[in-house]
Amino acid sequence: MKRVLLKLSGEALMCKDTNLSIKQEMLDHFATEVKDAHSMGVQIALVVGAGNIIRGKTFAGANEETRIEGDYMGMLATIINSMALRSKMQSHGLDVRLQSALSMDQVAQLYIRDKALSGLEEGKILIFAGGTGNPFFTTDTAAALRASEINADALLKGTNVDGVYDKDPNEHADSKLIKEASFLDVINKELQVMDATAITMCKDQNIPIRVFNIHEPGNLRKVLAGEQLGTTISAAGAS
Ligand code: UDP
Repeated sequence: MKRVLLKLSGEALMCKDTNLSIKQEMLDHFATEVKDAHSMGVQIALVVGAGNIIRGKTFAGANEETRIEGDYMGMLATIINSMALRSKMQSHGLDVRLQSALSMDQVAQLYIRDKALSGLEEGKILIFAGGTGNPFFTTDTAAALRASEINADALLKGTNVDGVYDKDPNEHADSKLIKEASFLDVINKELQVMDATAITMCKDQNIPIRVFNIHEPGNLRKVLAGEQLGTTISAAGAS
């Protein structure tokens, strides 16, 4: 793989024990993984969510008219997470370019595709913040959109489980890891990978998705080296 987009959920940055939204050790872990993967010569762009801080739907609850305000708050929160990642990755010696879908002049460049591409070619790590810049979407969809725009070879979704399961592994002891699935399988069987908009976009643009455990040190490198860990979602599916 020459160029990938790595999607991290906001919750991946959290410290569950203390409820701290952003834990330094988690940032260190991701910076280490990205640095190692980058040393393989792979161009890496990141999108990070904001579930550790706020989600529009949760904020609004039953009060639907506040949903859009909440979504903008969620998008702003992705900028906070992205800044935290940027500063940690910089302290690990990486050259990072942060671009935001929402204008945020003092802290990030506005998203400009050409500059993103030239940054990647120059060996910079790109972070795309602010989601898609529009309410009603998720950062999974932002990841699918940016992956399409930068012609990524794959969208890598780092999670806290080993991949996609046939049933929720936290609730069913007999759940099985699915190694390969097609985009249509994911849509028809409603497999919990990413929301339908994001899956459809990857399907339309034929961008394979790999879901894998990002908390396991070395996994990002293994995925990039072609090891078959996690779940691969592609047009072909299980052959
Ligand atoms: N969001 C949005 N538009 C986008 C991306 C995100 O409105 O293009 C808002 C939405 O409220 C979402 C929140 O930002 O719930 C945080 O993103 P997400 O839920 O995808 O974060 P994750 O679950 O990956 O941590």
